[in-house]
Amino acid sequence: MSCNYADGLSPYENKGVLGVPETFHSREEVKDKCLLLTEWLQKAKHVVVHTGAGISTAAGIPDFRGPKGVWTLEKEGKKPEINISFNEAIPTRTHMALKYLVEKDYVHYIVSQNIDGLHLRTGVPRTNLAELHGNMFIGQCDTCESQFVRPTATSTVGQKDLGEFCKRAVRGRTCRGKLRDTILDWEADLPARDLAMSDYQSSIADVNICLGTTLQIVPSGNLPLKCKKYGGKMVIVNLQPTKHDKKADLIINTYVDDVLEEVMKNLSLKIPEYSAVEDPTKNQTPNCIVEWNIAKSQVQLYRKKYDEIHKEYKIKKRDENEMKKNEAFGGKKKKIKTRENGLITLKKKAKMVKGRGARQNGQAVITNIEKESLNIDLTIESDDDIFLE
Ligand SMILES: [Zn+2]
Repeated sequence: MSCNYADGLSPYENKGVLGVPETFHSREEVKDKCLLLTEWLQKAKHVVVHTGAGISTAAGIPDFRGPKGVWTLEKEGKKPEINISFNEAIPTRTHMALKYLVEKDYVHYIVSQNIDGLHLRTGVPRTNLAELHGNMFIGQCDTCESQFVRPTATSTVGQKDLGEFCKRAVRGRTCRGKLRDTILDWEADLPARDLAMSDYQSSIADVNICLGTTLQIVPSGNLPLKCKKYGGKMVIVNLQPTKHDKKADLIINTYVDDVLEEVMKNLSLKIPEYSAVEDPTKNQTPNCIVEWNIAKSQVQLYRKKYDEIHKEYKIKKRDENEMKKNEAFGGKKKKIKTRENGLITLKKKAKMVKGRGARQNGQAVITNIEKESLNIDLTIESDDDIFLE
């Protein structure tokens, strides 16, 4: 039962806002919004999708903070009615559509908070997926840190010993480190490579799309905001309001499956059916191990891409600030208007500046400009030109 996951975690008080009523946009509104989303997908160079528990409810796995969510009901002393085992659940239409959108180059990365392994089971490559809170179908070696796909969901949570050994060959020998589950308990550190990839990918995205999450858990919930600074857009598809609705460029309040279906229709794509053949958990032979690692080179590649856009951003910001300074005083040169007890005030269009003055090559140069008043501790002739830096 998937509730065993919730039961296995340590007691924790701060579970966020729970049980807020769900709202729905009309059919027409959803259609229009999906059309806009489709246009953005077609134009974007880099699209990242962020998924939460809301995308797995259609698979029979309860969410956490919805009106019938695990934490909402826990507060009332109840348990969810719908609840199937992780082994029985299969990927939903949203999971399958996302896998296909990755294949067709419309979506470039998926950042998931879900531990149900349903993204993995669509056959989406590890190069396009980060699992920030772990995966019930993955074991990790505590010696070489390699991750392996397992045929069934782990019986433990909280990174405990699975009673199995690492089969990875290291310099001709089998590692034989202990395998642990990858499910994070509250306040455990997030997996470093998954987090780094999510951070870089979310920052360089033209569009971050949030599906089925109230964005309350940090740092996962803040990642979709990363692109805003660099000019990207944020889209939210959820039934409940989310923590970052105010910052969203587009909000669609309806079922994620319906949105994905509509977008796929707009793109003339058909959502594929789940196929056990492509599911790495179903596709194992006794001597074949399926690794599930993020390569260090992948992280370095996206770090470089991130550094590039961040550098561009800094140059742009610097130029903008320069422009603003010049605009505020109608160009670089300004005359002193008033001077009293060594305090010099410069006025332009009712705006004033304050800064340190210095004499360079016979000219008064003001640096460290602040707002309001100009405070210069050097003698300047009232008809000197002042250069602002
Ligand atoms: Zn190992």
